[in-house]
Amino acid sequence: MGAVVAKPEILALTEEELAAQITPDGHKKFRAQQVFQWLHLKQVFDVRKMTNLKADFQDYLLEKFNFPDFQILNQRQSPSDHTAKYLFAYGKRQVESVWLPYENRQSICVSVQSGCSLDCSFCATGKIAFKGNLTAGEILAQVYGMQQLYERRITNIVFMGMGEPFYNYDNVLRAADLIAHQHGLNISRRRITLSTSGVLPGIKRFVEEKQPYRLALSLHAVFPEKRAAIMDIEEKFNFLDVLEYLRAHRAELQQGQLMFEYIMIDGVNIFPDDAQELARWANLLRAKVNLIPMNTEFNGMRRPSDEKIYDFWRALVERGVVAVNRKSPAKDIDGACGMLAGRQAETTALDSP
Ligand code: SF4
Repeated sequence: MGAVVAKPEILALTEEELAAQITPDGHKKFRAQQVFQWLHLKQVFDVRKMTNLKADFQDYLLEKFNFPDFQILNQRQSPSDHTAKYLFAYGKRQVESVWLPYENRQSICVSVQSGCSLDCSFCATGKIAFKGNLTAGEILAQVYGMQQLYERRITNIVFMGMGEPFYNYDNVLRAADLIAHQHGLNISRRRITLSTSGVLPGIKRFVEEKQPYRLALSLHAVFPEKRAAIMDIEEKFNFLDVLEYLRAHRAELQQGQLMFEYIMIDGVNIFPDDAQELARWANLLRAKVNLIPMNTEFNGMRRPSDEKIYDFWRALVERGVVAVNRKSPAKDIDGACGMLAGRQAETTALDSP
């Protein structure tokens, strides 16, 4: 008996790939654009609601492709800043995503793996079981699943939830390309950010491919021993090699394309010598620095006082660095960076629309 061939995931196909799949079966090419727009522009996943498609073509699509299949099991909204965290389930795998409303933009943070194979000591995600990479369709389902719930259009997307994007490179880049497609959400590529903990082969590929997305390097420490103490990845990819590579190839990245993410942890990485070294690298690489105060106490680590946060920020700015002291959103729902940890026990079923 031959192996069962899985049906293609319709949400992960480009318009051209969809056309290439349906035309040999006698369907017109323009049907691919119609289907693509239902999925990616209107976020309609129920083929029976795709009203300009005939019933027999709808039957054909259901027969030939896998349609998005997910549930939103839980949602928690912060009373203080209206940030909302969603728990998406694809069968037994669960991931979290965050809706981050700002005055002039609407950001979301999505996951790329279920759990994470790395174990950064300040991050709750690293402590839960790793259940593998998400498919491109599963990544997109978070984006579109949240868009379905809100009237405000998503303007910015960060791949900074659960998981390491460069351990799931192909699916993450495919999802980003589909989000930016002109017949879909059409989000500017400069408003889509991939955040890596420093996976050098992925960074090299990103640069060599001249990817247009923003690249955020989760640095969090600028001395080898200190970084090794809080980030596992340091054993595999030394951050100094990553920074030297980026320095050698900085001209191949656009102005404003590179950022450093830096979680501020009290008593760990916000001393004056940390600021001095961070500023040196930020200036060398013309990288903006996003400072993110640890949002809650975790694993014996805690948020610094407001005074220490201000002093560290000022030490960077005084050295000419563009540093943003990003408040940790959703403090009250554990929704900020590195804190997507899945409180699955509290789930209340909410069917996906
Ligand atoms: S911070 Fe990112 S890379 Fe580190 S354990 Fe958490 S999810 Fe994984």
